[in-house]
Amino acid sequence: MGWANSDRRDRLPPNWQGLRLVVLRRDGYRCQAVFSTGGRCGAPANQVDHIVAGDDHRLANLQALCAFCHARKSSAEGHAARSARATRNRPAEEHPGAARSVFSGEYVTGKGTSVRARQPCPALGSLSPLWL
Ligand SMILES: [Zn+2]
Repeated sequence: MGWANSDRRDRLPPNWQGLRLVVLRRDGYRCQAVFSTGGRCGAPANQVDHIVAGDDHRLANLQALCAFCHARKSSAEGHAARSARATRNRPAEEHPGAARSVFSGEYVTGKGTSVRARQPCPALGSLSPLWL
């Protein structure tokens, strides 16, 4: 199972084995997964899945799944969780109000002077100042 790196097993209720059997019997040991086409998988099921991932262990939130559908669903949920974490860890985007010098692209310091303000403009330096 893919639970080795999660606390999934610890979060299951003490009566989980009993709950599993109730759900499997209720669902006739048939996979309850519904495909995007609307059809039901119906394959022999030996796994019990939380319809909405989390700690809601009520029968209404549990369904029998075959190994294939359970693995596919768990993989999708794991991917969603990883994506959420990745989004949280992404560096903050540059503040749209951050001031940049239009000439050098460098940030303007707090005093309003560019980091390069005291250096001669490289473009002007290479031109003959005929018009100045
Ligand atoms: Zn299935």
